[in-house]
Amino acid sequence: MSSALSPFHPIHLCQPDPGKSCSACCGLYNWKDHSRAALESILAMQTELLSVHLPEGTIDAYRAAREKKLKNTKLCHDIYNCEFIGFLNQDHTRVGCLAHPAVNNGRDFRDLCLYGHEICHNHFCPAYSCLSIIEQTSVVLSIDDWYLYGLTITDIDLVKDFFKHVENRIGDSIKEKHIRQPEAQRALKDFFMLKLHWPYKARQPRLGKYYFTQTEYAIARIEYHKRWGILPSIYDSILVSLESDFASVEELRTAERMIEEKILLFIHACGLV
Ligand code: SF4
Ligand code: SF4
Repeated sequence: MSSALSPFHPIHLCQPDPGKSCSACCGLYNWKDHSRAALESILAMQTELLSVHLPEGTIDAYRAAREKKLKNTKLCHDIYNCEFIGFLNQDHTRVGCLAHPAVNNGRDFRDLCLYGHEICHNHFCPAYSCLSIIEQTSVVLSIDDWYLYGLTITDIDLVKDFFKHVENRIGDSIKEKHIRQPEAQRALKDFFMLKLHWPYKARQPRLGKYYFTQTEYAIARIEYHKRWGILPSIYDSILVSLESDFASVEELRTAERMIEEKILLFIHACGLV
């Protein structure tokens, strides 16, 4: 959401490059159907309507038209879904704020949203402070599409845990020279893509480690002891972030092997074995 760079935040995670961007904290994924196709359709609809209604100042008409066209329901009622998110470029590779002065010849429409321009301008999500520069750079370099990028850069546990397991295995820290290698970036993307194709995704509404009721959200858990009398998986944080729900302990073990494989692939791609 932030449009400002700061000395404390050297990588602009919201808009890192022309190929992708994030709008997660503006409510981009807060829809029951938050598949790529569903979000593309909302973003395209809002972009088209805003291109007419913002310059004309017909916001009430925009809101009415948007409401009519929306075919989705909010995932968590108490989380704000900003109506000003859209595509920033013709190719639809970057999502972002269509109320921002940079896309409105200097006019700032962000006070029309719930937060107002000051909060929008100054907000830095936890990815800026919780992820190390190497972790931030790894996500930026390895992912080249807005949908997976927004899901991943905001999934602190998934990213941090992956690097924790890698570094524990090699007994050293991952350096920039490692993640600059195309093979390493491909291996990382391969891991992050588990978010899109994870075969053990829970059926109930989830977004990473969070599950949702009508108005609330909480952190999901895998009940290892209660269900199977076993200790938690060493990959628990990753499994929860991937929205896992296992029917059996065999499924859990297969999932662990899949994660292990991605970790080893990355270490190998970095030239560390
Ligand atoms: S969730 Fe973080 S990276 Fe994404 S737009 Fe918001 S502040 Fe930027
Ligand atoms: S107005 Fe604020 S909340 Fe809405 S899209 Fe822009 S930055 Fe996000």
